[in-house]
Amino acid sequence: MDCRVIGMWGGFPKKNGPCSGYLIQHEGFSLLIDCGSGVLTELQNYIDLNDINHVILSHYHYDHFSDIGAYLFSRLVNTHLGRVGEELIVYGPADEDMKRQVEDVAYSRFTSFSEKSKLEIGPFTCTFMRNIHPVETYSIKIECDNKSIVFTSDTSFKHDLISFAANSDLLITECSLYEGIDGVGSGHMTSELAGILAYQSNAKKVLLTHLPHYGDLNDLLDSAKKQGNQNIELAEPGMLIEL
Ligand SMILES: [Zn+2]
Ligand SMILES: [Zn+2]
Repeated sequence: MDCRVIGMWGGFPKKNGPCSGYLIQHEGFSLLIDCGSGVLTELQNYIDLNDINHVILSHYHYDHFSDIGAYLFSRLVNTHLGRVGEELIVYGPADEDMKRQVEDVAYSRFTSFSEKSKLEIGPFTCTFMRNIHPVETYSIKIECDNKSIVFTSDTSFKHDLISFAANSDLLITECSLYEGIDGVGSGHMTSELAGILAYQSNAKKVLLTHLPHYGDLNDLLDSAKKQGNQNIELAEPGMLIEL
C-alpha cells in the first residue's frame, strides 16, 4: 500500500501548496482521502483524474472537500467524452446536499458512513472514529495486506485516538497548533499532543499534517519528537510513503 501526500496545509492553501488530500494506492486501485482546496491541480502530477476509483471525505470543511465539486464536474465531462465509464463512489458523513451534488453526475453515487461503518473499498478495509471538531468529522483507518494507515483529519486530542491508531504502520496526525496553545475550543491538536499520540500509539511512521501558516514548522517537529517517537516527519506535497 502506498500513500502519496497531495496537500497538507490547514485552513486554506498556500501558493502551490494544497490543503488536505492523500492518495492511497494498492495494485492499481486508487482511493483519494479528502479533496481540499488546491488538491485537484496537484493530484494531476501523479494520476489521471479518471483513474481515481473512489473518494472518502473526512468532513465538510473547505480545506477538506472544496475541490470535490470540480472533481465531479471533471467526471461529468470525461464521461460525456467517453474517457471514463466506471462508477465513482464518494463516501462521507451523511449530508443531503453532498448526496444531491454527487448523484447529479452520471455513474456517481454517495454513500454515508458513521462510527459503526466498516467499508470494503477495493482492496482497502476502512473504519472510522468520531472526532472532536465543530462539524461531524471522522478519523479514518485504512487497512490492506496487513498494513495500516490512520489519518486523524481534524480533531482535538481524545484518548480513544491512541487505541484507534495503535501500532499503525503510518499515522498521519493533524498538528495545527504550536505547543502551549489551547486547541480544545477550535477542535485541533498541538504538536505536543500529536507527539503524545505518536508515542503512545506506537505508530511506526508518523507524518504531521494540517500545518499552520505561521511560525517555524521545525518547532512542531521538535515538540512532537520530544514526546518519544523519533520517526516523525512534516508532511509535504508529493511525499510518497511505501508500506
Ligand atoms: Zn481542516
Ligand atoms: Zn475541519
